[in-house]
Amino acid sequence: MPGLIDLHAHVFEGISRTGVNPDLGGVYAGVTTIVDAGSAGAATFAGFPRHILPHCHTEVIPFLHICQTGLATMPDIIAESSINLDDTLKVVDQHRHLIRGIKARMVSPALEIMGMEMPKLAKRAAKESGVKLMVHIGDTEKRYDPKVIRSLLPILEKGDILTHYFTANPGGVLDANGKLVPEVREAADRGVWFDTAHGRMNFSFDVGKRVIEQGVLPHCISTDLTVPGRVMTVHSMTEMMTRFLGLGFTLPQVVTMCTANPAKAAGVDDRLGSLAVGRQADISVLDIRPGDWMVYDVLGTGLRVDRAVVPFVTVKKGRVFTPDWGPRAWGWEPDRALPAGGPIRGGCC
Ligand SMILES: [Zn+2]
Repeated sequence: MPGLIDLHAHVFEGISRTGVNPDLGGVYAGVTTIVDAGSAGAATFAGFPRHILPHCHTEVIPFLHICQTGLATMPDIIAESSINLDDTLKVVDQHRHLIRGIKARMVSPALEIMGMEMPKLAKRAAKESGVKLMVHIGDTEKRYDPKVIRSLLPILEKGDILTHYFTANPGGVLDANGKLVPEVREAADRGVWFDTAHGRMNFSFDVGKRVIEQGVLPHCISTDLTVPGRVMTVHSMTEMMTRFLGLGFTLPQVVTMCTANPAKAAGVDDRLGSLAVGRQADISVLDIRPGDWMVYDVLGTGLRVDRAVVPFVTVKKGRVFTPDWGPRAWGWEPDRALPAGGPIRGGCC
């Protein structure tokens, strides 16, 4: 299939604290291209072209965090001065060939300090720079008004990206009765992309099933990979594919959600996301193994699956890479389903 594109991961290794090595989540995991979802901000971005990009084979497409320090400090936004719009615009302009989007995170304390001014500033930065806006939904601190999604979604325009579509945290897309807020359908009709980044805190099978039942399907599958997330929750892009096969998506749907759609969402579909004569040779060769497996969401809810996707060979720009051992003690496969005695969670340190 075309090379896998992970639309949301964190690969600012050594600068943002949980950034994973790009090739560990990339060519050595069956993935040819990674969108770094705002690990760097205006004050730290210079480290990307200097310290990260020259040392990896995986293609990295950075989105710039609206917070100056990106994810080098957590929480990210701690005061209005955490955002410097002029600097942000300047950095995107200086790295126009690299930066394809602006990232904002709808989390505490940013919203308590700035309210909706925060995503609006991010949208302004994206619009003035002519790049996409990607917005993280789901307050991992669980402090803000869950209804904030209703005023956020109208800010997103055609081509912008909502990430963590299946989050169970406050600010997700379901109302208190489990129904999609009406702005979701409107956003989908306008051409907003829905991405399902898993991460350590923002992916629920229950939310996903409710969303799917209501017919507004996600467009993209991504990991939100970090060093701890790789070990404890997400594991890999191929395991994300396994989760979506388990949720009932067909293999062609899953492939589209990992290739053509993220290429379009990141604005690189003129080069990436499909196989064609004359195109750059980005190819993922995957194995689909039959078996009896369990995959888990961030709440610990298990889903029993009978197929597991694992990487076999990655080709990036014509160069061949063999996947490494994998994120777990036994490699790439998910946890085995056990007949009795409850699940044993694997891969944890
Ligand atoms: Zn993330």
